[in-house]
Amino acid sequence: MDWETIRKDTEPVVPPRLPDYERARSTFTWAEAHGALAGLPGGGLNIAYEAVDRHAASDRAGKAALRCVARDDTVAEVTYAELARRTARFANVLRALGVARGERVFTLLGRCPELYTTVLGTLKNADVLCPLFPAFGPDPVEQRLRLGDARVLVTTAALYRKKVAGRRDALPGLEHVLIVGPGAGELPGTSSFDELTAAAADTFTIPPTSPGDMALLHFTSGTTGTPKGAVHVHEAVVAHYVTAAYALDLHPDDVYWCTADPGWVTGMSYGVIAPLVHGVTTIVDEGDYDARRWYRILGEQRVTVWYTAPTALRMLMRATPRHGPYDLPRSYDLSALRLIASVGEPLNPEAVLWGRDVLGLPVHDNWWQTETGCIMIANFAACDIRPGSMGRPLPGVEATVLRTGEDGRARVAGGRVTEVESPDEEGELALRPGWPSMFRAYLHDEERYDAAFADGWYLTGDLVRRDADGWYWFVGRADDVIKSAGHLIGPFEVESALMEHPAVAEAGVIGRPDPVAGNVVKAFVSLRPGVEPSPGLRRELLAFARRRLGPAVTPREITFDPNLPKTRSGKVMRRLLRARELGLPTGDLSTLEGSA
Ligand code: ATP
Ligand code: MG
Repeated sequence: MDWETIRKDTEPVVPPRLPDYERARSTFTWAEAHGALAGLPGGGLNIAYEAVDRHAASDRAGKAALRCVARDDTVAEVTYAELARRTARFANVLRALGVARGERVFTLLGRCPELYTTVLGTLKNADVLCPLFPAFGPDPVEQRLRLGDARVLVTTAALYRKKVAGRRDALPGLEHVLIVGPGAGELPGTSSFDELTAAAADTFTIPPTSPGDMALLHFTSGTTGTPKGAVHVHEAVVAHYVTAAYALDLHPDDVYWCTADPGWVTGMSYGVIAPLVHGVTTIVDEGDYDARRWYRILGEQRVTVWYTAPTALRMLMRATPRHGPYDLPRSYDLSALRLIASVGEPLNPEAVLWGRDVLGLPVHDNWWQTETGCIMIANFAACDIRPGSMGRPLPGVEATVLRTGEDGRARVAGGRVTEVESPDEEGELALRPGWPSMFRAYLHDEERYDAAFADGWYLTGDLVRRDADGWYWFVGRADDVIKSAGHLIGPFEVESALMEHPAVAEAGVIGRPDPVAGNVVKAFVSLRPGVEPSPGLRRELLAFARRRLGPAVTPREITFDPNLPKTRSGKVMRRLLRARELGLPTGDLSTLEGSA
């Protein structure tokens, strides 16, 4: 890509929208998509310029970039012009502290305006941003600060005291800790974020950054093992922009809300970057999850596009079952809502239909990973949904299904892999590298990175099938798939069937070794509020699942478990259910919910 020859627009060019999926796929090129972004005035590309400065220099300057809803429900807006000034101030702070190009700035913050300032100011100074999940305990925080070579940390006094202060000696590279809000004065070795930024100049010229310069470091969720540090570059912004147009249908007048925590890749790519690049108003919710509060924000803030996750939807489903009553959502005016999308875990068909019945809109599932950096496969905004399917590959994304071996991973023979031959044949999902937000490394782990590629494909570690019309259906993670009596059973299918029973809130399914079948299916089930576990209910659920799934796939055993183990990004940790069941070592639990 020749950066000097691309078009320099101040207003983004919106790529052609669907519903013409086939046309969009056949005419789309990433090179052209690059042209939709402005590029730095002096040449090069920088995420922060696309997200803020470009708008601040346009007639969008006075528009609200952020609409912050505080815990007490007070609302405060930050315009694009103000965000440009704040991020310039923070970039100046970093420069004054001597933070050199490419050095790492970490955040340990909930969603708050200072998070946006830090992320975008860091990128302006050509530094690398790595977000941490604020509910992490001291061990995972220290582990990631060390692995990611943190030089600067932005956090609050309370989080610092609890999670970092006692570890500071073990982190000699962590030179600067900046405290947002009160408390810096009482904490040795820290400075006040607010004082430093207030004293800094509010203009900043972004130094030239190239599309290939490292911009973001994201640790994976740790669902299958030790979290990996995925490295992303400035060019990723092209993919954030395009995919938010296709999969989330963002238009400049939207009021957009992404509920993902900013500590995870979704919360950054689609909670910070993509909406700002599109020039929309983004909700910054500083409160905790609470069904009533969420319905209220959707209604009172007139949210038009909502990006959330299955775990959050299941929480709402507990509060408002599909069979009613709908009093809670009906007490808010949700008529502005135009699109609901979900990512992170398989979305059970039940949740898609729940959205349709309770919120008036079905839920659009989409699939991607920390590694891919952007949405890859989606039920498009303007197309029909196939409930239970993750959708179809986005324009510019080439996907396939590869034949797998015994271990559930793509079989590589003589350096070659084989694609499945017929529709609906299960195999490992693979992607052809080349999209802009593709990860460029696992930090300090070249071997693992190399092992993720074969024969020109990136191997995702997820098992899927593709139907005759080209829609992809998630089967399970290769590590979670159950081999039973010659069948490969995806836990998702079994969990979805159980979820259709009105008593079931959530389910996690594993294989338990069995001398005859190899493995038998075992389900862990949490029940809806007010439903009591009983042997009768267990029998009923077993029969219910058997009718839907047939004898080969149905669970042999069901255990009621009100607290299914989950990652902090809300995914059921089947490997932990399995380890507990079999008395095996539990492995890396740094991302286990509630382990702090
Ligand atoms: P780790 O790689 O550390 O084990 P992780 O894979 O959960 O953790 P993420 O990158 O946060 O880390 O999650 C990506 C994974 O989440 C995908 O590989 C897939 O298994 C799952 N996933 C994401 N979206 C969907 C979806 N729509 N349907 C099914 N699974 C999904
Ligand atoms: Mg993964």
